[in-house]
Amino acid sequence: MPELPEVETIRHGLEHHVTGRTIASVTVLHPRSVRRHLAGPEDFAAVLAGRRVGAARRRGKYLWLQMGSDALLAHLGMSGQLIVGDPGLPVGPHVRARFTFTDAGPDLRFVDQRTFGHLCFDVGGAELPSAIAHIAPDPLEPAFDAERFAARLRARRTGIKRAILDQSLISGVGNIYADESLWRAKLHWDRGAGKLRRHDVMRLLAAIRAVFADAIGAGGTSFDSLYVQVNGESGYFSRSLSVYGRQGEPCPRCGALVIREKFMNRSAYSCPRCQRRPRLRERRDLP
Ligand SMILES: [Zn+2]
Repeated sequence: MPELPEVETIRHGLEHHVTGRTIASVTVLHPRSVRRHLAGPEDFAAVLAGRRVGAARRRGKYLWLQMGSDALLAHLGMSGQLIVGDPGLPVGPHVRARFTFTDAGPDLRFVDQRTFGHLCFDVGGAELPSAIAHIAPDPLEPAFDAERFAARLRARRTGIKRAILDQSLISGVGNIYADESLWRAKLHWDRGAGKLRRHDVMRLLAAIRAVFADAIGAGGTSFDSLYVQVNGESGYFSRSLSVYGRQGEPCPRCGALVIREKFMNRSAYSCPRCQRRPRLRERRDLP
């Protein structure tokens, strides 16, 4: 599932390839991909035709294209891709929506094998689409308030990994970058959020920002063919992952073997030496 660095990489690609161009036509090939556009696929196509694309913006894992005071909002879900390419190429089976432009240049295709992603037109949403107003700022935004984040995190009675996956507390962090930033900060994923000291939270926040910056520099993480950049190329941050997906391999810092544990129907990867398992009094639910 694309997390902040992958969505940021796509945002950057859209800004390069689509901003400043005018949409000629929109074809919706699967109605599920515009299910949040309540007026339906025909209306979605009609309101976008003729619109000039402004800046590409992002909050957490959402991105949007500004169109005057309105926005075209996208969430990629599990497998969504936004691909800019030759308009003459055949339309593949997983293309859910296609945008052509008045300059007859490269088209934009929303490809989504599993159809958990979606697109919608958000009236008045250029600065912040109403559909995502409940999502917390992400840690790369100027609006992100570190002290407020620390206070809210420390008020939680839950494990720290579960807390940072909550998009209403901090947006953009998913399973991969949660494990990588907890490893960088030398914090075990099951430490109680309420048991952290302020400087632990600040160290974690610095680790999240650093891993995001490194991953954006590598064009994101591609584990399979589902995440690609707008030009169809993979990101290569998977080579730089320290613990995620690396059970049984040596920790790059201390050499202990990385372990994988069950976590909320998914996995948590950590180093058993660098990320000391919390003692009982450091667990989430004890006073
Ligand atoms: Zn280690």
